[in-house]
This record gives sequence, C-alpha cells and structure tokens, in this order.
Amino acid sequence: MSTIFSKIINKEIPTDIQYEDDLCIAINDINPKAKIHLLIIPKKEIQNINSADENDQEILGHLLLVCKKLAVDLKISESGYQILTNIGEGGGQTVMHLHFHLLSGNAVTL
Ligand code: AMP
Repeated sequence: MSTIFSKIINKEIPTDIQYEDDLCIAINDINPKAKIHLLIIPKKEIQNINSADENDQEILGHLLLVCKKLAVDLKISESGYQILTNIGEGGGQTVMHLHFHLLSGNAVTL
C-alpha cells in the first residue's frame, strides 16, 4: 500500500530532498528527534524489514552505505551517529514504507 513516502518519491509533494539516486532518496524528518535527523527511503515500496526478502539484498545494503555516505558528507562519521529502523506498530513504525532514520546530535537511548 502506498504511503506519503511514495508521494514524496514521485515528487507529488514538494520536499527538500537531500540525496537521491536510482534506488533511494534521503529527506529531512519533518519532526526531527535530533539535531540531524534524516530518513533514507528506498524507492521500492517495501513495508518494512519483515516484508524484505533475498531480492532486496542489494537495496538493503545500498541503504546502509548511503547512510554512511551521508554521515561522511555531514561530517558526523567521526563523532558518531545512529541508524534506526522501526518495524510494525509495536515497533514504533508510523509510516508503513521501509526507512532508516539517521540521527546525530543527541542520541536516542535504548
Ligand atoms: P517511523 O515512526 O519510524 O515510521 O518514522 C516515520 C517518520 O516519518 C517520523 O519520524 C515522521 O516525523 C516522519 N515523517 C512523516 N511524514 C513526513 C514528511 N512528509 N516529511 C518528512 N518526514 C515525515
């Protein structure tokens, strides 16, 4: 099922896209929980890690490497950052389209 993230990916909603390639986009979270809070979102509609399978191996690896690249670009790779993904309502997921949160500035404690 399509979510607001598909509308952003399809440019139906104007958004400050921070990074884009063939497989994913990165945007600023509209409700940031840290000084830096980006969302790295695959263009493919994958609901969350539960619905990913072996066909998504390249995408999943790519998303993590894009997180690392953005961290380097934002000069937070040395000071440290977090990559989080919520899975399902019980896991705190509110938008049912896979995304990684890239957070830095005030760590979310686990
Ligand atoms: P999650 O709770 O893990 O599903 O994360 C969804 C995130 O998407 C939340 O942190 C929201 O603040 C963020 N979000 C929802 N709508 C938008 C939007 N239009 N643009 C940017 N971020 C959004």
